[in-house]
Order: sequence, then C-alpha cells, then structure tokens
Amino acid sequence: MQPPQQKDSWQMRTCILLAVLALGQPAASALGEGAKERSDAVKQRLAADYERLEALYKHLHAHPELSLHEVRTSARLAQELKEIGFEVTERVGGYGVVGVLKNGDGPTVMVRTDMDALPVIERTGLPYASKVRTRDRNENEVGVMHACGHDMHMACWVGTARVLAGMKERWKGTLVFIGQPAEEIGVGARMMLEAGLFTKFPRPDYAFALHCAANLPYGSVAYTEGLALANVDSVDILVRGKGGHGAAPHTTIDPIVLAARIVLDLQTLVSRETNPTDPAVVTVGSIHGGSKHNIIPSEVRMQLTVRSTKDSVRKHLLDGIKRIAEAAAQGAGAPPPEVKVNPAEFTPALYNDPELTRKTAAVFKDVLGADKVTARPPVMGGEDFSRYGRDRVPLCLFWLGTVDPQRVAESEREGAKPLPSLHSDLFAPVPEPTLKTGVLAMSMAVLNVLGK
Ligand SMILES: [Zn+2]
Ligand SMILES: [Zn+2]
Repeated sequence: MQPPQQKDSWQMRTCILLAVLALGQPAASALGEGAKERSDAVKQRLAADYERLEALYKHLHAHPELSLHEVRTSARLAQELKEIGFEVTERVGGYGVVGVLKNGDGPTVMVRTDMDALPVIERTGLPYASKVRTRDRNENEVGVMHACGHDMHMACWVGTARVLAGMKERWKGTLVFIGQPAEEIGVGARMMLEAGLFTKFPRPDYAFALHCAANLPYGSVAYTEGLALANVDSVDILVRGKGGHGAAPHTTIDPIVLAARIVLDLQTLVSRETNPTDPAVVTVGSIHGGSKHNIIPSEVRMQLTVRSTKDSVRKHLLDGIKRIAEAAAQGAGAPPPEVKVNPAEFTPALYNDPELTRKTAAVFKDVLGADKVTARPPVMGGEDFSRYGRDRVPLCLFWLGTVDPQRVAESEREGAKPLPSLHSDLFAPVPEPTLKTGVLAMSMAVLNVLGK
C-alpha cells in the first residue's frame, strides 16, 4: 500500500489533467480528440489492473536475480505474456523472452524491459525489500537488489502489454515485447540479437524502452534527443609486484604502493589528456590486494569503468590506461601489469532517433502535461538498449520519474543531501505513481506509432 498522500497526488494530477482536457486548453489539444480518447482508454484499463501490477512489482522487487541468472524472473514474464495472448518464445539468448502479438497490417513495434538485478545488499527497510543472498561471478557472497529499477521496468512492461492487448480495436500492427537478460553486465542485448531476435521474429520498425530516473519526480518523464548515454568499457588491471615481509619493504616490490600510484596517474587521462569539451570518465571501482597487516602481497587487482561518447576518445582512454599502468610498473622496477579490456562487455553509446523521440515527447506532453515532460542533457551512464539501434532500428529510451516531488525539491536546496542514485542500496521508487505514469507513457508511445 502507498502512503495516502501519494495516492492523493496521483488522483489530484489525474483530476487536474481531466479538468484541463475538459476545458480544451492548448496543452491537451495538440494531438486532438484521438489522443484524448486513447489516453482515457489506457487509464481505464490501467485502473482495473493496478492492484495486480503493484503486487507483481513488489514480488519482483523481493525476488531479484543477478545477470545471467534470470530463471524465475523470465519464466514469470513469459507467463504474464502468454496469459494475455502473446505468442511467447523463451531462452532467446540466455533467459531472453520474446512475445509477439499480431493485430493486422501495420508497423512492428518492440518494447524492451531488462530483467536483471545487482549484487547489492538492500538497505531501504521497505516491507517488500529483498533479503536474497547469493554468490557472484567471483564466488563472493553478495546481496541481490533491484537497485537500478529493472523490477519497475518489468511491471510497466507487463502493464503496457495488458493495456494494449485489451484495446486491439484501437491499433494495427505487430507488438514484439522482449524481456532482456544481463543488461547490467552489458551482454544481454547482444546475446538476444545473436540468437536471432531480428531474424527469427518480426524485425521492429521502432523500439521503445524506459528507465527509472533517481532524481526525477514521479508523474513526470524526461527524454534526450540524439546522443543520450555513453560508451561503456570495463577494464581489469592485474598489478604485479614481489611479495614479502611488511617489515622489510626493501626486499619487495610493493604492488599496493604501485597500484595507488596508478590510480592517481589515471586521473590525468581525463583532466590533462582529453579535450575538456569531450565527455570522459575513468573510475576505479574496485581495488583488492593483500591479506594481513604485515605481509606485502605479490599482486593487486583493479576494476575500472571507462565512459566516453566519441569513438576517438574511447580509444585514447583505453590505450592510455595501458600506457600509464605499464609506465608506472616500469618506474617501480615491477613486472609488466596485465591490462585487459573485455570487448564482450562493451556497451555502445545510446542514440535516440530524433524524429521518433520528438514525436513521442509530443504525445507525453499531451497526456501528462507539458510541465511533466522535460528535455535532459546526455548522461554518462550506459544502456545496451543501444545495440538494437546499431542495426538501424529507430530507438527511443525515455526516463521515468520515481521520487516524491517534495523530496526532489528538498534535495535541490543548497547544502541538502543528494537523493540516492541508481545502484544505491537506498534507491526506492514510489510504486503507485511511478508505475501508473510508466504504463500510461509507454502505452501512449506505442499507440502513437500504431494507433488507428
Ligand atoms: Zn544499472
Ligand atoms: Zn538499469
């Protein structure tokens, strides 16, 4: 159950929207009667389904699964689509799910949700918080949490499928709903494409996805035309030294000091070597070495994430990491480090088709109100939804607000604590208004290109 003020707020917005529509204000008239009728029909279906969808969201939240382990999650999504008449194929690239619903001649529209969660111990304290523990790829015991909102994406996806399957008289064409595994490690989209997503199933003319935004008020959405998200690369560095007694450092080559030097040297790649007008990030997200106070270990392992928007900047950063690590090792008289870029985990930058995005933003403004739809500059996050667009399918990924507007306003005051970001152990979308806006927006985006 949601706190009452959130329900009131949703209802109040709906009332204001209906009042505005009734008065025929310009905000409501841009797409005319057809859009109003469609959005009313979507809202009606959504209202009838809502409790079920919230229960599904909370179930998915409490039962998260890590990337490449989406066994029960994918089975549940497949079941949901079958129940409403989609033709469903499972295990399309790992645990990928593809549901097809044909409804006469017209364009083919793909709607994608991701399904995987993150190795994070949840600290939200919510009654439906995840208590799941498992082992990660390196056999470390970890918590599992939907800290990126993929549970919300799935609930919106199911809600949209139910809405559209229930109003077939209002659209013509083919829906392809896909549940994608392993987004967080950047391989799921590639796996589904390699398994024949665009050859064994109808090839989409348009593809949509939404992603939760951790700093956007619920009830609103945001979009970015053109370049929206960054190139993402993962780099592993094994720093080699010569182990020994902590009291006799002169008999060793200390890889911890060497690793520390490499971490600091890496900072110059962005601050001194990259054109300040080109976005770039080099973050060392993990560093591990040693076992005890008085032992100098023989190696240290580091994991980096590297972000860019231009291919030339990407190449410079990746080459530079290797150069800096090798030079530091040479300076310390240490063996050469091992620097590995994992091409399988590369996520290309996401490009939102400008025409499709403009058209979609226009219908959002019509339905949610112009003040609830904002244009956003690109961010340095990554999303492998981008891969579907590399095959010349026009894409539109939009951001879904998840946070109490009052909390957003408070967080923007000077000196205020920032809101928990995506991947935080405290990230917690407010279910009802987020889910309702997500289903309404996604349904309207699809009807906007398929509607009669
Ligand atoms: Zn994520
Ligand atoms: Zn995500």
